[in-house]
This record gives sequence, C-alpha cells and structure tokens, in this order.
Amino acid sequence: MYSDWNDGRAHGAPDSSPNDSNSSDSDETGTEAHESPAPDSRGKFTLTELTDLSHSTDHDPVRPCDIRGILHSHSNYTDGTHSIAEMAEIAAEIGLEYLGISDHFQSSVHCNGLDLEAVCYQRGEVDELHSKLPHLDLFQGVEIDAGPRGQLPLDDETLKVFDYVIVSFPDTVDLTFEERTALVTRIASHPGVTILGLPVGDWILRRDDGILDLERVLHAASAGGTAVEMNANPSRLPVDWSKCLLAQEMGVKMVISPNAHRAARLVDYRHGAQQANTAGLCCGSFLNTLSADELRQYLARAR
Ligand SMILES: [Zn+2]
Ligand SMILES: [Zn+2]
Repeated sequence: MYSDWNDGRAHGAPDSSPNDSNSSDSDETGTEAHESPAPDSRGKFTLTELTDLSHSTDHDPVRPCDIRGILHSHSNYTDGTHSIAEMAEIAAEIGLEYLGISDHFQSSVHCNGLDLEAVCYQRGEVDELHSKLPHLDLFQGVEIDAGPRGQLPLDDETLKVFDYVIVSFPDTVDLTFEERTALVTRIASHPGVTILGLPVGDWILRRDDGILDLERVLHAASAGGTAVEMNANPSRLPVDWSKCLLAQEMGVKMVISPNAHRAARLVDYRHGAQQANTAGLCCGSFLNTLSADELRQYLARAR
C-alpha cells in the first residue's frame, strides 16, 4: 500500500467536483514494494514524478500510478449520477489518461439501460467531448447482461459499435456448477466480448471455490483474448490472490475497475492496484496499464 501514490492532491481527488462524501481513498498507508520516486518536501510526490512511468515494465508489480485509465464507469445516461462531461473532468483531474464510459444496455435487470438510439446519441457526445479534451481520451464501452443461457442482447455486428464490451452475469443464482461454467466459458470465448465483468471477477478472484470451474473459464479467456475484471471497490471482500496469480500465469489479462457510478468512485482503482501490487501481479497483466493509443491498438486487434 502506498500513502504517497494515493495522495489526494497530487494525483488524487479534487477539492471540489461532482463528488460524494464516501470517497474511500483518503487514509491509505503502507510500504513501498519496489523502486519508486522520492516524495517532495511535503512528503508527497509531484505530478511529474507520479506520471513518470519510464521505470515501469510489464514485469514490475503494478502500482496505483501505473493505472492509466478506467474502463468501467457509468454516467447519467443510465444509473450513474454524473454526466459524461463531469466524469471526464474528474478523470482528467485525478491524472488518468483515458476514461471508458460503460453504461448498461437495457435488460430485465437494467430496464432503464441504453437502447440503440441512446447508444448513437451517446457516441456523438463522447466524440464531441473527446475533441474538446486535450489531455483525456474517451472510450465508449457498454456493459451488457448475459441471459441465463449465455445469450447476449446484441448481435456480433452491433457489438462492434462499441469500443469494448463488458459482459456481466446477473441471473446465475439458480445455475449448477456445470451450467455456470459452461455459460461463462461460452461468453469468455465470444469474439465480441472484451471483459468478463461482475460478478465473474468476484467468483474468480475471491474464495468462492465450487461456484464454477475456474481453470476452464481462464483457459477460455486466455484463448479468446478476454480480460477478467477485478473489482476495485474497497468495500468488497478480500481477494484470493492465488487465483489472480493463476490468471496471470495463464496469460489472462485483467482490468482494475472501480465500476464507478459517480465521479468520486473513480479513484477506487488505487485500492485495487494496491491489492494487486501486494499479490505481486505485474503491470503487463492489466489492460489499463496500457496507454490510450496502446489500448486502441489492442482493442482493434482483439475484435
Ligand atoms: Zn449500474
Ligand atoms: Zn457497471
């Protein structure tokens, strides 16, 4: 854990913003795991030091300052509190290079989710905002809910409208071990899916043995080039790092995601990065240590 990397001023939450009172990154303390910049006279890192990534390689343990963008966030198009412009403003202020808005596509769980008309309108807003923001890249993703048999609400061509696709699994409570494994494996193998979202990351990364066949899912994710989301919400249960390391060993990419439904939650990625660092997970295992350009290239290759 790194108090200085998570300082709320130099690389952290702004003083005033579309913000809430529940931001959870204020009191993180701890030790430094590997070579890092020295703090300035106030005991804080300067912005230059925080953004100098020249010493980070794919094999270094990931640190909060290695996370360059967020791919799981929501706007007031669906169930988020803030507009895309407000989310982008805070993302830029906390030093991120890019922000992906991944609003829910409508489903039985998210009745007020996007329809295709809203998707088009949102794309226009994202592109216009992108052209006005010199220091922040914007991506339009989507979060879609898999049906109980693994069906997706959008066909393959429509999935390509988005820069990336997160699939979540809200309706699996009644499934057996084998059925759930088959469902998640099928989605992990889907060429239009970029990230396995909630609660797959929770199943995979936590102590939930017996919920599904982890190795089969990870094999499918590795073969399909599908990443697994690691929820960075500090209120979540502790992570089973052995499973993260297994994912890393199998070449499965992970994503540290705050699933931010308000701007103040964007900073939660630091909590996730701290945990990942403690586990010895490396920069190269996380999609969101890529630069915005690298990420665009990755997404273009992957889909
Ligand atoms: Zn939501
Ligand atoms: Zn979400």
